[in-house]
Amino acid sequence: TLSPKTLSYDELRALDARHVWHPFTQAGTAKPPILALGGRGATIYAADGREYLDLVSSWWCNLHGHGNPAIAQAIADQAMRLEQVIFADFTHEPAARLAARVTRRLPGDLDRVFYSDDGSTAVEVSLKLAHQYWRNKGQHRDVYVAFEGGYHGDTAGAMSAGHSSGYFEQWREMLFPVKTVPFPATWDDDPEVEAKEAAALDALDLVFACHPDHVSAVIVEPLIQGAAGMRMCRPEFLRALELKVREAGSLLIFDEVMTGFSRTGDLFACVKAGVTPDLICLSKGLTGGFLPLSMTVAREAIFQEFLGQDLSRAFLHGHSYTANPLGCAAGLASLDLLEAAECQSRIQAIEALHRARLDRLKSRPNVARTRLCGTIAAMDISGGGVGYAAEVGPKLKAAFLERGLLLRPLGNVLYLLPPYCTTEAELNRAWDAVEDVLATL
Ligand code: PLP
Repeated sequence: TLSPKTLSYDELRALDARHVWHPFTQAGTAKPPILALGGRGATIYAADGREYLDLVSSWWCNLHGHGNPAIAQAIADQAMRLEQVIFADFTHEPAARLAARVTRRLPGDLDRVFYSDDGSTAVEVSLKLAHQYWRNKGQHRDVYVAFEGGYHGDTAGAMSAGHSSGYFEQWREMLFPVKTVPFPATWDDDPEVEAKEAAALDALDLVFACHPDHVSAVIVEPLIQGAAGMRMCRPEFLRALELKVREAGSLLIFDEVMTGFSRTGDLFACVKAGVTPDLICLSKGLTGGFLPLSMTVAREAIFQEFLGQDLSRAFLHGHSYTANPLGCAAGLASLDLLEAAECQSRIQAIEALHRARLDRLKSRPNVARTRLCGTIAAMDISGGGVGYAAEVGPKLKAAFLERGLLLRPLGNVLYLLPPYCTTEAELNRAWDAVEDVLATL
């Protein structure tokens, strides 16, 4: 049995209430947070004796669930050798090996890894790289294009790219302008998908036509817009998008912070779609959820534009913990687990189980737009409002927590994004509860 190491449950709660500021939380009205004491596999153990099945992989990070001993051991071993070292003038084994290993699995000449700390900074780096790439080439390109609803993180550049997500109204004055084109969100049996894709590509054409030779980059969450409500598009659309971007001579950025590391069923969404972007942002699952780490991977041709005798051509950007050795060691251990046949067959099994259970729900009157990509299953719940303010979201969350399930609807969108170690019995239990809760809504 687990219990707090130092203070009592009530003392810890009081300290948290007095001193901690939680993200995305209105502390004035929120219930006290659940005190997590431990985790094993897909389960989180709380201080009040309750257990929660983590069906959102703790903000989409924990590929292999919680407490994986192989990753924990890799971090411990690395900590005994080298815990952190300045990454200018120095390098280290885990950083070099992880960069080589990830780039080997990416298409084309996506060969250069720039390390940073989280998804937002990976995106920030991609935008700054795009900007300086054109500058180094002697071109002035200052137009950026993003997809309506897209979310790319909470730092200023990432907020600018994600301004249409609706999360950032308070900071509008801090953001730089980014053009937005429609995202052709689709779902099972959607008769209008091709028309939506054509409209999105037409809108993109218009931006290119209005700003010839001035579009620096187009950024997209490939296959699935996560925070927008697990909005999915077809691989065909991404291939058409790549063609348009190539015709315009612009850069294509794939934000794979959420889709990377087999979430879509393939190791990367770009592989599934058959597209080679110029820059890819990776984080979340990179360390299997153990430590914050991210990568912006660039095509070799982009890296080459930063070479020369002049320091100002170099990318003068970095963070204190760039390529932290513990994070890189966790990344290598997580990849070992991910690439093993056992994990790959679990991923396929989760997708198959999602498909069967989603199909059972399709005919329910309050379920619409069922959709599936890899290990992510999603649906819209009708009758309780739409969008972020939908009152049905918090209601569902509370009902699931009551049943020991950690599910956090995005507005009226209910989705399951389980760790790959989730067993068939656990996943069926979750889907049974979803059916149950939706029946009583
Ligand atoms: N990009 C995408 C697609 C994301 O889903 C997120 C986070 O949800 C981010 C970027 C930002 O990542 P982080 O929260 O690690 O900064």
